[in-house]
Amino acid sequence: MSETELLTGQLLFEFRTIKAMVNIYCKAHHPMKPSHDVCEQCREFLSYANTRLDRCPYGQDKPTCNKCPVHCYKPHMKQKAREIMIYAEYKNVTSPSNYGH
Ligand SMILES: [Zn+2]
Repeated sequence: MSETELLTGQLLFEFRTIKAMVNIYCKAHHPMKPSHDVCEQCREFLSYANTRLDRCPYGQDKPTCNKCPVHCYKPHMKQKAREIMIYAEYKNVTSPSNYGH
């Protein structure tokens, strides 16, 4: 994804985390697309998240978005972010690949 070129360091790490979560979420909730890609709606969310990270006032010192005191997402995007994070966390704790940590 060329848009990730905007981000470096902590911001890039955050974006990759969000992207991984969106992938898990999209596969489970929007299974109409080939498995290698996320749907239009989720791609739009990712691109929005990318823009917010790029403009984050904390820059490299930012906390992770779900702990950040600056709620920069628009309400409906924030709602989607919460859904995605809750689902991804649920998948993480129940995934057999994470046993042993
Ligand atoms: Zn999707």
